[in-house]
Amino acid sequence: MRISVLGSTGSIGRHTLQVVREIDAAVEVVALAAGRNVDELARQALEFRPALVSVADPESLARLRDRLGGAAGYSPRFACGPRGNLAAAAEFEYDVLVSAAVGIAGLEGTYEAVRLGRRIALANKEVLVAAGEAVTSAARDSGAEILPVDSEHNALHQCLRAGRADEVERVVLTASGGPFRTTPAEELARVTPERALRHPTWKMGSRITIDSATLMNKGFEVIEACHLFGLPPGLVDIVVHPQSVVHAMVEFRDGSVIAQLSPPDMKLPIRYALAYPDREPSPRRRMDWTRVSQLDFEPPDRSKFPLIDLAYEAARSGGLSGCMLNAADEVAVEAFLCGRISFPDIAHVVERTLAGAPSKPEPSVGDVLECDLEARAKAREVVRRRPEPRPALGLTGATAA
Ligand code: MG
Repeated sequence: MRISVLGSTGSIGRHTLQVVREIDAAVEVVALAAGRNVDELARQALEFRPALVSVADPESLARLRDRLGGAAGYSPRFACGPRGNLAAAAEFEYDVLVSAAVGIAGLEGTYEAVRLGRRIALANKEVLVAAGEAVTSAARDSGAEILPVDSEHNALHQCLRAGRADEVERVVLTASGGPFRTTPAEELARVTPERALRHPTWKMGSRITIDSATLMNKGFEVIEACHLFGLPPGLVDIVVHPQSVVHAMVEFRDGSVIAQLSPPDMKLPIRYALAYPDREPSPRRRMDWTRVSQLDFEPPDRSKFPLIDLAYEAARSGGLSGCMLNAADEVAVEAFLCGRISFPDIAHVVERTLAGAPSKPEPSVGDVLECDLEARAKAREVVRRRPEPRPALGLTGATAA
């Protein structure tokens, strides 16, 4: 098997290469594209010897050339920026493109692989959240196969093998509930970035950890599920499940519910996406049924986590709403992490950025990239107008500009 990896130095990228080391089948890594983590990329390149290595910008590229210059018998092609991602997606023979870049940076390369009818192991959320319509329509035309690596969608993909699409009554995504599941709503204004970054179950990057704390991440996953499985938002439900053992469930029309359970480990969905329709043996830990004493389920608190409803609204409106939602959230999360706005302000910034935005049916990837920049500028403006967060309680609706 041959794979090409976008975002090789991020969390999913590193887990992917760990799976490659563990998997029985011989796997050739043809391209590695990363951002600015030159040290990690250089280590990976020396181990896997891909034909192409790519980084985010010319400055990182110079450092990478420097690091790999002395490697005996290894002279890869060097690239950078979106062009490097495009080359990794389009200019090599491979069986699976692992799309694991973070943010909108991975969109063009992934879209190109979809257009070419390749198999994509998809972990880059923005691809479907921001450009779901363009990507799924290109996949229908080309026959590209999109295998989700996100644990919930990967679970749905597995559960859906138990019946036909027209037999599905609804799908349920589980959410850990994040670190503030039991925190009273009025305390959220005092939450610090350090506290919000402590996720109970998964170890992830800082943006997705904050998105898990606000439940925005679950909202994005609703949008992704709609695109991946061709479902209307009304058929996608969220249930809070603090143990994170059940990743998703599908309810069929006869009343049967098929769930996927496993210990929380990103390598499982990665291995599944690489090996599908087979299942590769895994050395990873198994469910210990003597220790699973309880599986709890409860509805999410939509008034405490208003981004859930904003995501459903974006899923229903379609067009560029998902793109704006993602861009506004990224700006708001950055502002929260640097202490500029409070935790509840994240939702305010997103809501105000989306308010009154015009909708455009069937946007192209170019439209999405343009809208992404505009939405970010608008969100930054909304952040600028908000007052500095106060150290104690007192941020109410009345303080809004
Ligand atoms: Mg997930």
